[in-house]
Amino acid sequence: ILEIIGLRKAYADNEVLKGIDLEINPGQLVFVIGPSGSGKSSLLRCCNRLEESSGGQILIDGDDITASNANLNRIRQKIGMVFQHFNLYRHLTTLDNVTLALRKVQKLSNEKAEKIGLDALARVGLQDKAKSFPDQLSGGQQQRVGIARSIALAPKVVLFDEPTSALDPELVGEVLKVMQELKNDGMTMMVVSHEMGFARAAADHVVFMDQGVIVEQGKPEDVFGAPSQPRTQAFLARIS
Ligand code: ATP
Ligand code: MG
Repeated sequence: ILEIIGLRKAYADNEVLKGIDLEINPGQLVFVIGPSGSGKSSLLRCCNRLEESSGGQILIDGDDITASNANLNRIRQKIGMVFQHFNLYRHLTTLDNVTLALRKVQKLSNEKAEKIGLDALARVGLQDKAKSFPDQLSGGQQQRVGIARSIALAPKVVLFDEPTSALDPELVGEVLKVMQELKNDGMTMMVVSHEMGFARAAADHVVFMDQGVIVEQGKPEDVFGAPSQPRTQAFLARIS
């Protein structure tokens, strides 16, 4: 469903992605780990054109999103993104945050957008918070709104960039639970996170990146249980 082929990304003359090849199949959860600065966020951001890649291809359902004439709004409907810092509009209710793109980009009527938005909020367990503003919600609830906003567009793939890193520890579980439910419903996801327990439970495939390349990848039990590369071993020893 998402195919990344020889992807390169440079900021000025600093090449931070050096030929990434990765395929994500429908319903898969691909989990990406690696040290700070290894290029995880750059990889995700290239996948919905928040950053321009400098080489290679990214195909969604066979369409090359790196093509210069690709429609950014269409790409971002197909490839949703959930950020570390939620990025909600403080002056909009949760429902309005979730329906904004439906109304402004998809040009749906308010009525249709609200129905879809309430459905999405229900999927993250927040239908009763539709009229609340972000500041009236806990961090975990705000992140669940961020997830609802993304899934309201019925994306093919959702990319998560450290969705729980900004949360107090007691709020992490509720967000992971929502992600697990999405996975159970068949959503295709690529997740950058340090939640190794979640990875072991939910990931189909784990990718370890370092210095802009994929060093090792495989099933969670193999990558975590018996990593073959010294760099993976060293990284896992440091974080556990
Ligand atoms: P972290 O775990 O800290 O989030 P990461 O794996 O997500 O790290 P990236 O954010 O992709 O890493 O950064 C990879 C490299 O690219 C780093 O060396 C970083 O300094 C550099 N970089 C990232 N964004 C920019 C930018 N907008 N301009 C210039 N360099 C950048
Ligand atoms: Mg990052």
